[in-house]
Amino acid sequence: MSDLLAAYPPESVVTHAYAFAEEAHRDATRASGEPYFTHVVAVANTVREWGLDEPSVAAALLHDVVEDTSFMLKDIEQRFGKEVAFLVDGLTKLKRISYSPEQRDVEGLRKLVISFTKDLRVLLVKLADRLHNMRTLESLSPERQRKISLETMEVYAPLAYRLGMQKLSGELEDLSFPYTNPEGYDWLMENVESSYEERIAYADRVRAIVAAALVKNGIQSAAVDTRAKHHTSLYQKLIRRGMDLSQIYDLVAVRIIVETVEECYTALGIVHQLWPPLGGRIKDYIARPKPNGYRSIHTAVMCIDGRITEFQIRTKEMHEEAELGIAAHWAYQQARNKKGYTGENWGGMNDSGKLTWIEQLRNWQESFRSGKDFIEALKTDFFKDRIFVSTPRNDIVDLPAGATPVDFAYRIHSDVGNQCMGAKVNGRIVPLDYELQSGDTVEILTQRGKKPSENWLTFLKTEIARKRVRAALRRNRMRTLKPLAPIDTLEFTIAAADRPGYLRTAAGVFAAQHVNITYAMSQSDQKGGSLARVTIRCGALPKEKLERIIVRLKAIRGTEEVRVVHQR
Ligand code: MN
Repeated sequence: MSDLLAAYPPESVVTHAYAFAEEAHRDATRASGEPYFTHVVAVANTVREWGLDEPSVAAALLHDVVEDTSFMLKDIEQRFGKEVAFLVDGLTKLKRISYSPEQRDVEGLRKLVISFTKDLRVLLVKLADRLHNMRTLESLSPERQRKISLETMEVYAPLAYRLGMQKLSGELEDLSFPYTNPEGYDWLMENVESSYEERIAYADRVRAIVAAALVKNGIQSAAVDTRAKHHTSLYQKLIRRGMDLSQIYDLVAVRIIVETVEECYTALGIVHQLWPPLGGRIKDYIARPKPNGYRSIHTAVMCIDGRITEFQIRTKEMHEEAELGIAAHWAYQQARNKKGYTGENWGGMNDSGKLTWIEQLRNWQESFRSGKDFIEALKTDFFKDRIFVSTPRNDIVDLPAGATPVDFAYRIHSDVGNQCMGAKVNGRIVPLDYELQSGDTVEILTQRGKKPSENWLTFLKTEIARKRVRAALRRNRMRTLKPLAPIDTLEFTIAAADRPGYLRTAAGVFAAQHVNITYAMSQSDQKGGSLARVTIRCGALPKEKLERIIVRLKAIRGTEEVRVVHQR
């Protein structure tokens, strides 16, 4: 506790908030029996470690005061000023949002998103609060444990991920895992944790070899460490691979942290000299960062004893960003730029152009009308891999990963989609099935009267685009109904007794065989005799069916002769 105080001068707002919170929570205890104050100090420490500013740390200390003690927001404002009060107000409002997995509180989630787009620091303190609550979940009732874990899994861990805070996201998921999926967790502990020691020993051998090779090749200051995969992501991967542990390569990943981007590629070459890379498993997220800003190079190699092992290579800065995500950007920006408080704090993310999706998020959440769409999209769409591309006028459009220029065109307008005849990405003509990447600028070339192609359905990624293409195709088909193509025809000519009902009986033979007659006619014999000439046409038939029909026709009373001619 005292190390928090030691980090700030006595006149700091943090020091005052510390004393105030200690007094305000003096008589309260947590479910574990500890003084309540220990919770707010833990949250404040996390916020400080993330590099946030003094008002944020003060707000962390005060985040439960308004809700849980007799003090009011105006008391906070009087003592600590508008900025701290604004943050505490946001946190108090967030706290009142109750999320229930049964009746999804959409309105609450919406408020959550709105509040954080106003000031990101509110959300960051909230995430620190959630982290500490998850770390100390064991004293709560099983019912509360499950509810809080579900909320963490479905709302906060994905949010942390979207903010680029991979480490936090993974930890939140892992803390929720035993409560949201107890059987899965037990299975994992039994099957994976048993071999943990062995994996660490193996990783140590790999680490020693890599570290020596890096030094030998002139990379002196690299840090090589090993990392056990997060339980939740491991379990999800196992489900995808049919619970087959031998299919998982990155149970232990080796991480190489170097100084510069050039060294990243040099280190990649060194690893590949030591062990052969597996085809198709090199992922260069430095050249093409993930939508959440993540940068690193991943490769999998056939390592010692032929074991497939994953390497992650990145610079210190990238590492910090991957661990802290948006908080890292925020801290950099703070260091660079000490501006006065404006009521909105975006941490300068837009300057770098990297995190424009936050702006998109703000537009996006406004555009959902019905609450159901919102929660569904929040869960399935927004937090999955999305890409963010822009129009030539710099409007950001978000699409699912793998989307094509035609998906983009339909997102802009159905007319643009229907008349799409080509696309330029970053100024270059690309095929219409081109896979768009985050950061691409997309321009659609249209032609009046152009019609969508059926072939588009084979590559379109978004449901809305497929729907529109199908509708357009249907419309076109109606308009351009082609004359029927000529088909093979069989013509039966039957000489039979001229009596009423013969034609109907003959037709019945075809019907009984499920054959459609296209033409049927009965003519009396010209010579006035007792014979009629019956003509029946139908489409081509399999041989057996044809023979069966002939046999049955011959069996009709009065049939004299049956002839069949095949016409094209
Ligand atoms: Mn709290």
